[in-house]
Amino acid sequence: MTKSRSSALFSAAQTRIPGGVNSPVRAFRGLGRDPFFIERAEGARLWDVDGHEYIDYVGSWGPAILGHAPPVVVAAVQKAATRGISFGIPNPLEVEMAELICAWVPSIEKVRMVNSGTEATMSCIRLARGFTRRDKVIKFEGCYHGHVDSLLVQAGSGSLTHGQPDSAGVPAELARLTIALPFNDIDAVRTAFRENSGQIAAVILEPIPANAGLYLPRASFLQSLRDECTAAGALLIFDEVMTGFRLARGGAQEIYGVAPDLTALGKVIGGGLPVGAFGGSAQIMNQLSPDGPVYQAGTLSGNPLAMAAGLAQLRELERIDAWQLLDKLGAELQEGICGRMRCFEKPFTFHRLGSMFCLFFTDLPVFDLASAKRSKPALFAEYFRFCLERGVYFAPSQFETGFLSAAHTSADIEKTCAVAGDALARLGRAA
Ligand SMILES: *Cc1c(COP(=O)(O)O)cnc(C)c1O
Repeated sequence: MTKSRSSALFSAAQTRIPGGVNSPVRAFRGLGRDPFFIERAEGARLWDVDGHEYIDYVGSWGPAILGHAPPVVVAAVQKAATRGISFGIPNPLEVEMAELICAWVPSIEKVRMVNSGTEATMSCIRLARGFTRRDKVIKFEGCYHGHVDSLLVQAGSGSLTHGQPDSAGVPAELARLTIALPFNDIDAVRTAFRENSGQIAAVILEPIPANAGLYLPRASFLQSLRDECTAAGALLIFDEVMTGFRLARGGAQEIYGVAPDLTALGKVIGGGLPVGAFGGSAQIMNQLSPDGPVYQAGTLSGNPLAMAAGLAQLRELERIDAWQLLDKLGAELQEGICGRMRCFEKPFTFHRLGSMFCLFFTDLPVFDLASAKRSKPALFAEYFRFCLERGVYFAPSQFETGFLSAAHTSADIEKTCAVAGDALARLGRAA
C-alpha cells in the first residue's frame, strides 16, 4: 500500500517538530492511527490532503462557530489586511471590540486584548494577585486554563494538600501556591478557604468544564463560589475561553446569572485568528500598567486583522441569532444519538449544552474529573476511528468537547447520528 500524503507529512513533521505537532492533542495519541493533514475547510466540512471529506465537530476547538471560512469573516480580514497587518499603535477596531465586549458581558467594564486563551488566564491570575496582594490560587481538577505555570497543577484526588506540578518544568515552589480541588465540591472549597485564611487571591474555573469531556456545575455551585469569594476577599475568575460567546451572547455567566470579578475570553472572539481577552470591573482592571502596578503587554495585542475577524464573527452571530440556531442543532444531535443509544441499553452517557456535547463510555454520572475518567478509553478510540473512517470527525480525545457550528445542517446531523449509532451498536454488541 502506498503511504498516504498525511502519513508522509507526519513522518516529516516528526523530524522537525516535537511529536510532529504544534499542540499535543493533534498527534492522535492512543487512537491507533496517525493524524490527518488539512488541505482546506469550508462550512461544516474539512478536506484532508488525501482527498477525504469529513463533517467536522471540532471547529478548530471552538473558534469556527460560524463554520470554516465564513464569507463575512474572510471579507473582514481581507479588507483589514489591505490597510496594514500590524501597527503596534492604537487602531479604531480595538475600541469597537472593547465596547462590544463590555456591552455583551455586563461584568466587564474594561477589557484588554491578548493573543491566546493562555495569555488571558495568565494575566487574570497576575492581576488577581496584584489586586489582592495575596499569592494562592484555587483551581479545579480537570479544568484547563491553557499552559500557564501556576495553572498546570492538579492535586492528588480530593486532597487539600498543596499541589504537585503536573508538567515538568513547573517549579514546585510555584505549584505550592495552587490548590486543586474536585469540581462541584463546595465543601472542599470552604475547607480550603478556612485553611488558607487571608491567602487566597482567586478562584479560577471553567464555569462549564469542557476540557475533561463536558460536565455541568451543580445547581448553586457557581453562586456558592461567588459567595465564598466575596466573603474571603478573593476574586472569582471565570475562564470563558471556551464558553464565551458560544453558549449565549453573555457566556456562561449570563446562563447561570453569576457575575465573576474577572473573565478570560478567547477562541470564538478571534474568528479563528489568535486572540484572547480578559476583563472585569474598572476598579480591578485599573491596576494594570500603565495606570497601575501590574505589568501586562503584547506586541501584537489588538492586532487589526484579529479585531476585524472577531468583530465580524461576533456581529454575525448576533445578526443570525446563532445561539438559538445552535441550540436547535444541538437538540437534533442529542435526539439522534440518544434515541439510538436507547435501542441497546448500553453504558453510554451523552452530555450537551447548546452547541457543546460529549459522549462518555460509562453509564455512571459524570460531574468531575474522577467521574469523567470512568469512561473507557478503548471504547472511545474504537468509536472515534469508526466515525472518522465514515467521514465524521469528532474530537480525537475523550477529554475534549464536541462543537457544532451554524454551518452544520440537519442533513449533516442526520448522517452523523446514523454513523454514530452504527458505531455504538457495534460497541454495544462487543461490550
Ligand atoms: C482553549 C482553552 C484555553 C487556552 O487557550 P489557548 O488559546 O489555547 O491558549 C484556556 N481555557 C479554556 C477553558 C480553554 O478551553
